Amino acid sequence: QIFMPLNFLGFVYREIRGSLANIENLFKLLETRPQVGDPTDARELSIEQGRITFNNVGFYYHADRQILKDVSFSVEPGTKVAVVGESGAGKSTLVKLLFRFYDPKSGSIDIDGQNIADVTQHSLRQHIGIVPQDTVLFNDSIFENIRYGRPDASEEEVNEAIRLAHLDQFISNLPDGAQTKVGERGLKLSGGEKQRVAIARAILKRPAILVFDEATSSLDSQSEQAILRALREVAKGHTSLVIAHRLSTIVDADTILVMSQGRIIEQGNHATLLAQQGMYAGLWQAQQKQAD
Ligand code: ATP
Repeated sequence: QIFMPLNFLGFVYREIRGSLANIENLFKLLETRPQVGDPTDARELSIEQGRITFNNVGFYYHADRQILKDVSFSVEPGTKVAVVGESGAGKSTLVKLLFRFYDPKSGSIDIDGQNIADVTQHSLRQHIGIVPQDTVLFNDSIFENIRYGRPDASEEEVNEAIRLAHLDQFISNLPDGAQTKVGERGLKLSGGEKQRVAIARAILKRPAILVFDEATSSLDSQSEQAILRALREVAKGHTSLVIAHRLSTIVDADTILVMSQGRIIEQGNHATLLAQQGMYAGLWQAQQKQAD
């Protein structure tokens, strides 16, 4: 007699907890709602070479805690700049500012000499392709999920992006190939596979500037190598900014920025930073030991 009511109570409890979690997510989403608008006389961003410049950028989410302090650097056209540093140093915040989810509190960010606060957000985001840590997949086929990168892309173009993103082998093993349904109600993809879907989308979009936010959780080395090869493909000849957690990913970067507590404390390529024997060299040694 008591079993059924208790079972029912358990069911109600789980439902309520689930709903509360969703409400929490909703609040989180509202908090991260873009806080900037277009100025009334906003122009379209015009890309010539794709040079990004951060000029003495300062930023905080809450006035009592400065997150970025006087950050200045340039990403020269067609080069790859990587940002490394401890968790919470402010690396992802750089990307949020570049995408204009927030405006700097001081200083400015330019692309090809145009302050990004003066251009339409639509044109800005059209020219930047982002491969995020966690990619959102829709309840649709993997093919359509990739075509989302450029909805008017032809079937051949999508297939080419699949090949360049090294997803072809994975897809050929799926029950319905590229027509297999993925997402919440379909096939679940691993973190590495999802990142390759994001790379395929970026390949279709062919943005002038590519931002890659490497996942924190480590992937098996085969998956990681596939992602790196795919990234090289999409970054060819483009300006790219990579937020890296594993230094092995970015040894080939033209410039590596080392961030600590909101400041850039070292910059150079892999070899010069190792020779400096500073924070980068320390991080490198620690990761090498871990790998061993
Ligand atoms: P990780 O390597 O762990 O991803 P990160 O270097 O990318 O770290 P950020 O995500 O840029 O660091 O965060 C920098 C600081 O800003 C952190 O202390 C973080 O808690 C804080 N922060 C990030 N987003 C917000 C936000 N929306 N509101 C308030 N504080 C935030």
